[in-house]
Amino acid sequence: MEKIVALCKRRGFVFQNSEIYGGQNGFWDYGPLGTELKRNVRNVWYEDMVQSHNELLLQDGAPVKFQMVGLETSIIMHPQVWKCSGHYDLFHDMMVDCRETRGRYRLDQVRVRRVSCNEKTVPGQLDGTPPDSIRDGDQKEFEHVIVASTAEEFQEDLTAEALRVFGLKKKYADRVQWDGDATTLDRIAEADFAYVVAPGASRAGSFTAPREFNLMFKTIIGALGSSEDAAFLRPETAQGIFVNFRNVADSTRVKLPFGVAQIGKSFRNEITPRNFTFRSREFEQMEIEFFCHPEQSRDWYTWWRDHRYQWYQRLGISPDRLILRDHEASELAHYSVGTADIEYAFPFLEDGEYGELEGVAHRGNFDLRSHMEGKLAKNDNGELEVEQDEQGQPVHRGSGKDLSYFDDQSRERFVPHVIEPSAGADRATLAFICEAYHEDAQPDEHGKPQERTVMKFHPRLAPVKAAVFPLIKKEGMPEKAAEIFGELKAAGLNCHYDQQGAIGRRYRRQDEIGTPFCITVDGDTASDNTVTLRDRDSLEQIRVGADRIVQEISDRLKV
Ligand code: ATP
Repeated sequence: MEKIVALCKRRGFVFQNSEIYGGQNGFWDYGPLGTELKRNVRNVWYEDMVQSHNELLLQDGAPVKFQMVGLETSIIMHPQVWKCSGHYDLFHDMMVDCRETRGRYRLDQVRVRRVSCNEKTVPGQLDGTPPDSIRDGDQKEFEHVIVASTAEEFQEDLTAEALRVFGLKKKYADRVQWDGDATTLDRIAEADFAYVVAPGASRAGSFTAPREFNLMFKTIIGALGSSEDAAFLRPETAQGIFVNFRNVADSTRVKLPFGVAQIGKSFRNEITPRNFTFRSREFEQMEIEFFCHPEQSRDWYTWWRDHRYQWYQRLGISPDRLILRDHEASELAHYSVGTADIEYAFPFLEDGEYGELEGVAHRGNFDLRSHMEGKLAKNDNGELEVEQDEQGQPVHRGSGKDLSYFDDQSRERFVPHVIEPSAGADRATLAFICEAYHEDAQPDEHGKPQERTVMKFHPRLAPVKAAVFPLIKKEGMPEKAAEIFGELKAAGLNCHYDQQGAIGRRYRRQDEIGTPFCITVDGDTASDNTVTLRDRDSLEQIRVGADRIVQEISDRLKV
């Protein structure tokens, strides 16, 4: 992962935000190449899901076609939106603070493991000085220490913490006795917090009791705004689609089933942003709300889940590192009939662990009903109904507008069900970067092996589609190369022109940023009007007519 992060900075994919001022944790900037790459991710998603989608679902043997439309809604919305959606009351993470180190952690991100080290097993061989809490001989505490780590490589870090806590040198790692497997802080009883040594803390018991922390960023609208005018930066783009359901249905005359897609920024005040761009405080989502008849929603749910899973694979993510994980019943939100996550084995995770790229959720009619009737909650019979306060009033009032749908063929009125494939543009971009990263050794023009770093981006995603080189800076080669470069640009292809250095080095510069094709104008070009076309992955080099090169590249990009 360090190599990938270094490459991202060196070649201008991703920069730390406000770096010259020391950076702003949880925010990232995309450099020139990262901007192209992420734009391609968004465009490919929009093209495949909205503009050129031509998929259909076979239902009872009959094909069902559906329409997809786009939407762009604003980041700040009426505060009532978040009250009815549940985000105002429920969108929080549990956190703990360490009173000693002042560290703040998300409860479910602190890995903990019980460990002991009976001094009798290491008579007189302790090399370091155990911290006071342990040396002072409270044997009970000594035996029940729980070490904590927030590192992704937590097994290794927990051992390091245990050694630190017991004041042992690394070579005595076998003298600590683990009791049970590592778990997370949210899974141990609060009474046991007294035995937990927070990361970097010198004694046990410094964690506060867990507290709720709402993840929505607050802001104030208007110059005279008081706290009553508080508004929120959206934590998801989805609600902009739900509150516009009527507008879309009325203005476009789309018929059910149909989907509405939106790409846009979302904001979450994450307690511990981490893992490069994976968990940021400002990020971009690519969300679809697919509205359908309640009786067909299960089929559509399965269809979208599989369809989205395949999309990543079509763009080059290996099925070895991509899983489709159905949520267990206990993980499901109270309104959800089914949810699946599409997860990727990011290199910063432990072996066998995966990070979420996208969630595909069956949301029933929860969202449209909430915006009609008011915030919903499950009653004793497990049915959703408007949540009421002690006076019998709705806790949060809905819009009172009719968000149902009238099917003029069946003459039936109902509140549609929703299937929501919700993807992160930054997480997808990061997965494509991680997947693309390769190192290999290739023979140079003299047959000597040359190490190269090559980003094997899918051609549709590659930030630069082709690079044009004159072999040498004379004999009309630069002019011819510049002419080809101009033609490629005119065809809308992002290209590089490079005449600096040995040809092998120029190839390697392009390999490192994932340019799929390199075109070299050489000594033969003047006589036969052909150029060399080199393929990044196969390294195959063929001669192509200079007048056909734009077409050839365009064709090869259409995979
Ligand atoms: P996580 O469990 O990782 O916090 P989530 O389940 O809260 O994610 P959703 O609310 O389902 O995420 O959001 C949909 C998608 O938005 C996620 O699959 C992810 O790709 C993206 N996303 C969510 N939070 C972040 C974040 N903090 N940084 C980057 N992308 C994010």
